Amino acid sequence: MENMISVPLHARVNEPLEGERSGSLPDQVGNIAGAHTAELQQRVLETGGRMDTPGPLKKVYVFWLPGMSCDGCSVSTLGATEPSLEELLTGALPGVPVMVLHHYQFQMESGDHFTHLLSQAEEGALDAPYIIVYEGSIADENLTVGAEPWAAQGSLPLWAPADQRQRRSTAEWVRRLAPAAAVTIAIGTCATWGGIPAALGNPTGAVSLMDFLGRDYRGSLGLPVINVPGCPAIGDDFTETVLLLLRFMNGQGPLPDFDELGRPAWQFGETVHMHCPRGAWYEEGNFAREFGGKECLAEIGCWGPVVNCNITERGFINGKGGCMVAGGICIGCMAPGFPDKFTPFNKRPPQTTPATSLSRFHGTLVKPLRRSTQLERNREPRWKADTTTGWAPEYDNTTVFHRSFEYFYSRLQYFRSELPGRHEKDEEKYPSGYVVPPEVAYGKNYAQWLPDRRAEEAKKRGTYQREGLTPQADGFETPIHDDQE
Ligand code: SF4
Ligand code: SF4
Repeated sequence: MENMISVPLHARVNEPLEGERSGSLPDQVGNIAGAHTAELQQRVLETGGRMDTPGPLKKVYVFWLPGMSCDGCSVSTLGATEPSLEELLTGALPGVPVMVLHHYQFQMESGDHFTHLLSQAEEGALDAPYIIVYEGSIADENLTVGAEPWAAQGSLPLWAPADQRQRRSTAEWVRRLAPAAAVTIAIGTCATWGGIPAALGNPTGAVSLMDFLGRDYRGSLGLPVINVPGCPAIGDDFTETVLLLLRFMNGQGPLPDFDELGRPAWQFGETVHMHCPRGAWYEEGNFAREFGGKECLAEIGCWGPVVNCNITERGFINGKGGCMVAGGICIGCMAPGFPDKFTPFNKRPPQTTPATSLSRFHGTLVKPLRRSTQLERNREPRWKADTTTGWAPEYDNTTVFHRSFEYFYSRLQYFRSELPGRHEKDEEKYPSGYVVPPEVAYGKNYAQWLPDRRAEEAKKRGTYQREGLTPQADGFETPIHDDQE
């Protein structure tokens, strides 16, 4: 998809339009654009002609709430390309309502101007449905000291003097907003399963969004929490899921398929191993001994064969990168139980030895067979014992044993089917009886011969026309016979 979305010049905000609030409010700080992001987005839409979305919804609010997180999922979402965040924000995709994103880092407004939209959602005063996205795990706010939340967003009541306010935790925002949310999405392993902040010994008592809301939670569309795991989540996994959900909400597509853990089923149905670029090394029983090796990483700690993750298929950004491509092992970052059930990293996972031993055994059998066929297939039919490469004289060294082995092995491989290669077949000849010139000059087997053998045959047949033109037969010292002489 085209990534470049341009904002029309006349959509820039210098003065507030009628109905826009933020530019005229007295205590506004840190808002260089003089408008709410939602207002600017509305302007872009109205002036950019991107409002012709079929379906009843023109826009959907997305409230991105941070918990115990490193913001990595926000960063990877910024890098998404299929679709990109810009495309979702500007209504560039047919049938997809505009995403009005409310995000603590991407927002232009700050302070109460920022919190205001959340309050409106709580009051049911928004003019469109909303989605909650939670990034990070949810700390146990019952454990906080002095009523200072572990993770907060905004302080309430809005517009009140500072000494009369209380910071509101994102856990409380979720508790209040989730029942009326159309969809609630957990992004990243911290939000989906608990992740690193919920590892053993953490002081915050953090849990995942699903654990926080409970198994009976349903959003207003009747959906439990949707989980897009990863540490961080792959940006495209998230934006693709949002895209399909927006289409569904707008009546323009079916409800996407989710698995028993609420993951997008098409993204998490297979293991890392299934699409790993090192898979063939595993299959032939070749394992890296140290990092930097090109072979399979199973014996230095890779959990890929048992972890559901699509990074080897999708790449990390724009189809590129990913753990094994970059030389890393799979540490199970997409899996429930990460990190505790996968530590210590870089140690071979249990049961690796039986599996890799079987691969080695299998590899010991198939590798020589494959190398033999490879050697045979890597040769022109004209090359018998000799090749014409001047680069590697040893390339000629196929042994009688090898040639005999390959003869019988190929017959086994092609048992009851046709052997590939250059064979004389009457049914493949010209129906008119036309005989191709090389066959006239050299005879039937010309395709199997090098030029010196052809020349020999042509001399016997009296069809050798230009002496000196075939260096293999006549040598470079023989001048080329000129027909005109
Ligand atoms: S590096 Fe990991 S995922 Fe890739 S083939 Fe080896 S075990 Fe499988
Ligand atoms: S391959 Fe493993 S470590 Fe890499 S993203 Fe997937 S689950 Fe995480």
